[in-house]
Amino acid sequence: MKTKTKRNIRSLSLEDLRLFFTENKDQAFRGDQVYQWLWKKGIHNFKGMTNLSKSTRSLLETNFVINHFDIFHQQKSNDGTIKNVLKLYDNLVVESVLIPTENRTTACVSSQVGCSLDCKFCATAQIRRMRNLNADEIFDQVVAMDQQSRLYFDRPLSNIVFMGMGEPLMNYKNMINAIDKITQGAGLGMSPSRITVSTSGIPKMIKKMADDQVGFGLAVSLHSARQNIREKLMPFAEKFPLNDLADAIKYWFDKTAKAVTYEYVVWKGINDDDDDINSLVDFCKISPCKVNLIEYNPIGNDQFIQAEKDRIKAYEIALQDHRITVTLRRSRGKDIDAACGQLANKSERTQVVLP
Ligand code: SAH
Repeated sequence: MKTKTKRNIRSLSLEDLRLFFTENKDQAFRGDQVYQWLWKKGIHNFKGMTNLSKSTRSLLETNFVINHFDIFHQQKSNDGTIKNVLKLYDNLVVESVLIPTENRTTACVSSQVGCSLDCKFCATAQIRRMRNLNADEIFDQVVAMDQQSRLYFDRPLSNIVFMGMGEPLMNYKNMINAIDKITQGAGLGMSPSRITVSTSGIPKMIKKMADDQVGFGLAVSLHSARQNIREKLMPFAEKFPLNDLADAIKYWFDKTAKAVTYEYVVWKGINDDDDDINSLVDFCKISPCKVNLIEYNPIGNDQFIQAEKDRIKAYEIALQDHRITVTLRRSRGKDIDAACGQLANKSERTQVVLP
């Protein structure tokens, strides 16, 4: 007998769920009940849907599965950062990181298995993109880290950044779908203003986000405001030149009135001279922005070395002289390969587990 393949129930919208029930001679509001179990209570089995009758639950069992990942490894950094290694339903692996500070706990989530792009300084880029994460897989990372935040730090998750593995704007539909579920009242009800999506800079998609009037923040991984240098660091940038990126960022500000954050690493002999600094200052005039100067996290490639302190200071002073907000970002979770650009599924080889 041929067995019917069961669908992942969380690929269905609320409308789809209502329709499923009416087509099965039940009432549409059952769809709303199931939706709540899935997206508000984050339940991973049909048995736990206690307001449904046995026959309704078995109807669901026959037709659907609730895909979810297992956290098969956790590591805790000396600085309190927690890295989760997640095994997905198809045995692929991604990582997400929970970062506590004095006043916040931030979840750094992944959007793809591997990455579509080719930034030379990033460990994730060395893994080819295997697939996009589904909306439920992005959502579940947030739920899992909210639970961890409550357990280990006694407070709910305060912020979410899409700065884990992958390029979120190359998985736009699923990312937006997940954020809807994270922010809707019928979902987790978090404020979109606590979410930041980081992109390596895909102009067309930045414009689309502006058109869609998303409520979250935008960060752009700039690293150089000089086209020839940026292309060396991020070869895909040849297809997405800085002029187009500048246009898109202007468009974003016109439509959303939100300042953009630039992420920027300064490397010795690569982007640390005065021309680099002046180009960044000019680029920052496009629209209101702030700059995060991020510490470089070595990924075992000798080509890249963090710039000398005085060159980073020179960046800081030049930006401040032009009244551009600049912050030096210390890395978190470096000792467990959990810092920016270090997520590369190495943990299968390490054996440090949480107490
Ligand atoms: N693809 C998205 C989000 C993931 S990367 C993006 O590019 O924005 C998150 C941030 O880490 C980006 O700003 C990225 O440029 C930076 N990054 C990558 N590798 C790094 C490294 N080795 N050291 C420091 N930052 C790095």
